[in-house]
Amino acid sequence: MPQDDAGSHLSGRATGDVDVIVVGAGFAGMYLLHRLRKLGVTARVFEAGSGVGGTWYWNRYPGARCDVESMQYSYAFSEELQQEWKWSELFSGQPEILTYANHVADRFDLRRDITFNTRVTSATWDATADVWTVGTDTGETVVARHVVMATGCLSSSRMPDIAGLDSFRGRVFHTGQWPHEQVEFTGRRVAVIGTGSSAIQSIPVIAEQAGHLTVFQRTPNFSIPSRNGPMTTEYEQSWKRDYATRREEARHMRSGVLSPLNDKSALADDAAARRDNYEARWSLGGTYFMQSYNDLALNKASNDTAVEFVHAKIRETVSNPSVAAKLLPTNHPIGTKRICVDTHYYETYNRANVTLVDLHETPINRITPEGVETAGQTYAVDDIVLATGFDAMTGTLLRIDITGRDGITLRDKWDGGPRTYLGLMTQGLPNMFMITGPGSPSVLSNMMVSIEQHVDWIVGCVDWMRAHGKTAIEADLAAENAWVEHVNEVAYRTLYPQANSWYMGANVPGKPQVFMPYIGGVGAYRAKCDEVAAAGYAGFALSGAKATAAAAE
Ligand code: FAD
Ligand code: NAP
Repeated sequence: MPQDDAGSHLSGRATGDVDVIVVGAGFAGMYLLHRLRKLGVTARVFEAGSGVGGTWYWNRYPGARCDVESMQYSYAFSEELQQEWKWSELFSGQPEILTYANHVADRFDLRRDITFNTRVTSATWDATADVWTVGTDTGETVVARHVVMATGCLSSSRMPDIAGLDSFRGRVFHTGQWPHEQVEFTGRRVAVIGTGSSAIQSIPVIAEQAGHLTVFQRTPNFSIPSRNGPMTTEYEQSWKRDYATRREEARHMRSGVLSPLNDKSALADDAAARRDNYEARWSLGGTYFMQSYNDLALNKASNDTAVEFVHAKIRETVSNPSVAAKLLPTNHPIGTKRICVDTHYYETYNRANVTLVDLHETPINRITPEGVETAGQTYAVDDIVLATGFDAMTGTLLRIDITGRDGITLRDKWDGGPRTYLGLMTQGLPNMFMITGPGSPSVLSNMMVSIEQHVDWIVGCVDWMRAHGKTAIEADLAAENAWVEHVNEVAYRTLYPQANSWYMGANVPGKPQVFMPYIGGVGAYRAKCDEVAAAGYAGFALSGAKATAAAAE
């Protein structure tokens, strides 16, 4: 359980310049810093951006907001914090989430140990002293016993490989690297390329401002209306009265979200009962739709019933039948690409100032100085918004030159796809932890729950090592291989691998096609991690002799 009050086992023996280096000051790095301080170890955080908040610092595009309710998409580690903070909407927008991140940084005095505007570029293991030497793009080098990669799963924006992009004379934005100043679209001709979650959130807002908006869609996605609205005092209080209990319950749910699962198969209802159930879920809104039945991710026939329902909703909402037809996702089961959650997305296509271009009919040839040229015509635009996603889960880590024991590099190690033990460590890189790494529930969960669980586990491990005189921990190859096999086996029991999704690495040409997150569920995963820790870190090799000798010198 996340803690705000843990004390340290032992006072710290010097292990380098600091005990722990944390890379990234998003929600993961911030909470980790807070916990490490409580433990009495020294920590330093490096952050490429100029402020805290990670995802919510970078993704400032119009319409950006969370799709897990704010009462749940928030820290649980401090009862005072969760009681005092007031969210204004059910699903808060990016500005409010960023304000919250800054409030947390102030409240827990985090900034004094964070070095901003500094990117970690390398990390090299020194086996003679059991320490990492970490290099940055400002030329600073720091030595530490542990390194924790709190670098985020969706933190390396992916620029599309479209010829001529550099030649465009207008403005180009990527949703994941949005400018800090207000971007004005009033009266302008805007192109949005992509129709994933970021596009689906931004398109309705941009359409309201733009003179004309042209959406370039390669693959239609399923989107469910969020039913967002103002937070009522009554709803807020229902959570705050009972926060500790509800948070604990969520930690043991499959997705880390306290949500109303209908625990039966879609095929157990007749057609009329199913339609009523889907209608009720559609009205409830958001990702809860995927919990209409318990086998939507498992059984194609069940999934088809949900697909059929959403297709009918799209046809009902979009008044031009040929536009509606283009918006119907047909190449993947619903939910096997991250389900999108929107505010008036499909309705936006009824506006006179919005055009949908189906790239399957007319692919983009190139970007010209004036706009976007497809096989059919050239669309002259003033601005291009790239909502083209991320090199997810591995991209950010692989950009860092990481060299572990015996010269093993992370790039070589993960050449065929990520390999981890529990998504926390990879064999060959002792004392380097990942938060929400591949092989953990991460992006399939309420990330706040998964972040807190990983931070708590890592802090517990560092504390245990200090108490037991251990200076190095490394995943066993056999344990790692068994975990990778388990992660795969569980994934292939579901429909998820049927989609060309970023979960599979399919959105980046040349990236190994491996289902990266662990789909076995947040609750079961937590139990496994706790069991491993309780068994003295089963599946990890721990050593301490070298450092004991070094300390005696
Ligand atoms: P991040 O927030 O990504 O922070 C990582 C930080 O590390 C970044 O600030 C980055 O600059 C820094 N960094 C990376 N590499 C380096 C380096 N080499 N050196 C220095 N600094 C580095 N999840 C949910 O559960 N619910 C949601 O509703 C939800 N909505 C989302 C909406 C958007 C638009 C996106 C993109 C993601 C969303 N997510 C959501 C996932 C979101 O990423 C997580 O919820 C969470 O914010 C991740 O926090 P983090 O600290 O792990 O990583
Ligand atoms: P994404 O889901 O990967 O979507 C990228 C879009 O760009 C896809 O439609 C893709 O089409 C398209 N695209 C990529 N390259 C293209 C090209 N060369 N030409 C034309 N189209 C191209 O990325 P995202 O929308 O940024 O979302 C990523 C993840 O971030 C989400 O899945 C979610 O986890 C998180 N997120 C959450 C929220 C939220 O609601 N809370 C909001 C935003 C993001 P193809 O599908 O054909 O590749």
